[in-house]
Amino acid sequence: MNCRSKYQFNRVNHDVPCPVCLHDHWCMISQYGERAVCCRVESDWPAPAFSGWYHQIPPRGRPSPARIAAVTKPVGPHQVRDFGDLHQQHLDWFDSEQKTRAAASLGLDPCVFDLYPIGYAPTLDSLAIPAMQVTSPKIVGIRYRRIGTSAGGSKWMCQPESTAGLLLPTSPPTSGHAICLLEGPSDTLAAGQIGLHAIGRWSCGLDSRQAETLKHYLADCEQPTIFVIGDNDALHTGEKGADAAAELVTRAIPGAVVLRVQPPMGIKDLREWVVDGGASAADVLDAGKEVRRGS
Ligand SMILES: [Zn+2]
Repeated sequence: MNCRSKYQFNRVNHDVPCPVCLHDHWCMISQYGERAVCCRVESDWPAPAFSGWYHQIPPRGRPSPARIAAVTKPVGPHQVRDFGDLHQQHLDWFDSEQKTRAAASLGLDPCVFDLYPIGYAPTLDSLAIPAMQVTSPKIVGIRYRRIGTSAGGSKWMCQPESTAGLLLPTSPPTSGHAICLLEGPSDTLAAGQIGLHAIGRWSCGLDSRQAETLKHYLADCEQPTIFVIGDNDALHTGEKGADAAAELVTRAIPGAVVLRVQPPMGIKDLREWVVDGGASAADVLDAGKEVRRGS
């Protein structure tokens, strides 16, 4: 879904606050009020160019177009920002004590943090997960996942002006080794723990920038086999997002063999499948169903 062509977004303010989170800065509202890009409340519809998420606003919740036009200012998609320096600080702050705590909060082994360039943000008590690409700048965004559960506020936060990117393992891929593409960092870490070469998508779907990054990352692999793994959720958003991601991967990497994996019914995601279900790498790969290419 591409909103950019159809909607002009204006920055919210005190007179026209965000209809989703009710804050008076940072979020955006479309010219006629029918869509918002909220930068605090996630939806299944990411708006990486605006570092937020699209929301549809029901007619009764919309401010009047005249009011929007009178008091708000138009905004365009942001340019890609380089978060390399901040990310390096996050990496330096992640000591073994925090690694042990963070791994326990996910039900995983602390060695998973040796596999990925994930850092720690002390002020937020959160894991700092980079959005990566292969070309420069390498770190184009940062997401935070809170470790402790005592404090209020949301579990997920995002560095303003982040662009969506992939979570790539520290080690390069090798030809002949299956590649797994997962929804979000905790599933990716769980897959890494059972020995899979796992890459994290920014959300349930995939955008063309991430597909391009994957293509660059796998440039030296001859005919890679890529398993696209989705979450199981009530509205099948995870499943549909993973189907769309698999489609995009088949188009972006013509030489790849692409398979789809869903965890067994009743299991929410790959992390639960590994942590509670004891899934092995073979269990995951055996569940793959090949995606047929359109001609
Ligand atoms: Zn908002």
